Order: sequence, then C-alpha cells, then structure tokens
Amino acid sequence: MAASKLDSIILEYGKAHKKEYKAIYRAIERYDKIVVFRHLKPDYDAQGTQMGVYTFLKDNFPEKEIHYVGDNHVTFTPRLFPETENLSNDWFTSNKFLAIICDVGDPERIADPRFKHAKYKVKIDHHPCKKEIARASVCDTELAAAAELAADIFLNWKGKTMSVEAAYWFYIGIVGDSGRFLFSSTSPHTFSVAQALLATGLKLSPLYQKMYEKDIDSLRSLAYVLSHFQVSPHGVAYYCLPKDVQEELHITPEQGKEHVNTFSNIRGINAWCSITEDPNPKDYCWRISIRSKGKDISGIANKYEGGGHAQASGAKIKDLTVLPRFIADLDALFAE
Ligand code: AMP
Repeated sequence: MAASKLDSIILEYGKAHKKEYKAIYRAIERYDKIVVFRHLKPDYDAQGTQMGVYTFLKDNFPEKEIHYVGDNHVTFTPRLFPETENLSNDWFTSNKFLAIICDVGDPERIADPRFKHAKYKVKIDHHPCKKEIARASVCDTELAAAAELAADIFLNWKGKTMSVEAAYWFYIGIVGDSGRFLFSSTSPHTFSVAQALLATGLKLSPLYQKMYEKDIDSLRSLAYVLSHFQVSPHGVAYYCLPKDVQEELHITPEQGKEHVNTFSNIRGINAWCSITEDPNPKDYCWRISIRSKGKDISGIANKYEGGGHAQASGAKIKDLTVLPRFIADLDALFAE
C-alpha cells in the first residue's frame, strides 16, 4: 500500500517514531542475511509478527537471505504457521547477520539463543523491558500487539509493498493479542493498522476459520474445565490440568491453556487462570496463564516467575503447594 493512502493515525504514529523506524530500515538495508526471532512457547502475536516480518522482507528484498527460527507450537504448527527452519550452529557462527527480535525483550525468553551471534540486533516489541538487548529498538507497551507495531513500521516505509500474505500474518498477531479487538489495549491505532492490512485484499473468513478451528478432543477438555473450575471469594476463576488428566483428554499443556478465555464474560469473575502441569524435564513446572477484566495482574505474574501485560500475563510455580498463595494474592487484588 502506498504511504500516501495511509490513514493519518498510522502516518502520525510513524512520524512520532521516525528516528527509531529509520534506524530499523537502515539496519535491514545494510544486511544481506537476516534471521527473525520471537519468544518461546509462541502465541498468535509472536508467530504472526515473526511470519509477517519474514514475508514482508522476502517480498521487498528478494535478493536477501531471510530466515525464521524458534520452537514450533503443538497446535498452530503446521495448521496455522509453517514449521520453523533448522539452521545449523555453523550458519550462525560463520555468517554476519542481522537479528530482528519480535514480541520479546527478555533474552531468556527468546526462542533461539543463537540470536547472540548477530552482528546487529533490532527489536520490535510491546512488553515492558528491563534491559535493552538491541542496538535499534522500538517498544510500545501501549500497543495491543507486537504485530500492530511491526505492521506500522513497514506500512510507513515509503516505496515498499505490504502484500496480502504479509498482511495475513500481521492481522493474525493483532487479532490474537487484542483478544479479537476486545481487550482495553485495542485503540484507534489498532483499528487503523487493521484497516490498512485489510485494504491489501485480505479475506477474513478463511483467516478466522484457520485461527479458531477446534477438534473434538478440545470440546471434551472444555467439558472437563467447565465441571472442575473453582472461583475465589473475590472472583478469580481457575482450573488445573494435571498431567494425568491431560493424558486422559489427549491434550498438551498448551491445548489445556486455550480454554482460559471461557471465563472472560462471566458476571462476578474479575480474573481467570489456567494452571497446567508442564512435564518438560528441563523446566518442570505448572504454567499459569492469567487474564483480567480490569486490574493490572502483571505485578502478580512478576512475583511468580512471569510477566506480561496488564490484562494478559503468564507465570509459573514449581508445584501445587504454591497455588493457594498465588490465588490468594490475585484474589486480594480484587478485594481492594
Ligand atoms: P500466556 O498466558 O502464556 O499466553 O502469556 C500471556 C502474556 O504474558 C504474553 O504476552 C506472554 O508473552 C507473557 N508471558 C507469559 N509468560 C511469561 C513469562 N514467564 N515472563 C514474561 N512474560 C510472560
């Protein structure tokens, strides 16, 4: 899409971030080899942004060598996103490459630690950042999605084209992290970027079909969640999915977490969590996905080895003896 046709909100946003955007454009122009990274245990936004950036670069710089790496997702791959690439250690140590790191600021959470070998690093993110990891960086915690920011960066790049395919990936990221434009992080800017992406000719119905298609096991696990959830005195709804239950239901921890938003529109429920046993031998824990209607729950997530956004955060606990304390902390937030 030509910049002249861009919505004024996107143009204004681009103007306000002109310096950071220029540094990113120059870095991309300077390097022939680029690897796009994102966070571990990816969600729609992490993968949508990564694939959007990858596709945009492939479309506009066909002569460059572009790659995308990281862990695959149990249900998204290959249904929604393609398998990531297997690049050898040798590739990372013998090439001068640019790393574009999307939707993550914490180096421990970057899905492939070999980003460290990059000659130059660019970061595009919307998470609070404790320590800057990149030379050129743009991070806006007010934005609903990293994809919203990445799409804005590229829509503002004069002379470049946003293809329907690149728009498709960015749109998935925005829909995913804004909770289908429901979360309070959704702003006029979110809609302006979505509008510009739609203007490429993107068709929504097949996109939503792919994003939200479920199977019968998922329906059965939802039935389990609905008959086993608990609610704390001040409206924290939560459910636990131990390993043996996951096995019985034929689901993974990631699939178990997908029911968390079942509680989003229930009167009297202020926050809701899924607590899933992750039997990964390297990092055995119970993963908690926390969502909230209003209050900022990221402080509680930080206290329990996690972090994230005001209304969508993640945390982890080593065993279920810690769970009552975690729920009590969250509950106290809503007693105020
Ligand atoms: P999840 O519940 O895993 O979908 O995560 C919700 C949000 O919190 C996402 O934006 C994640 O990037 C973020 N998040 C999840 N786990 C962590 C963590 N351990 N540390 C920091 N942020 C996290």
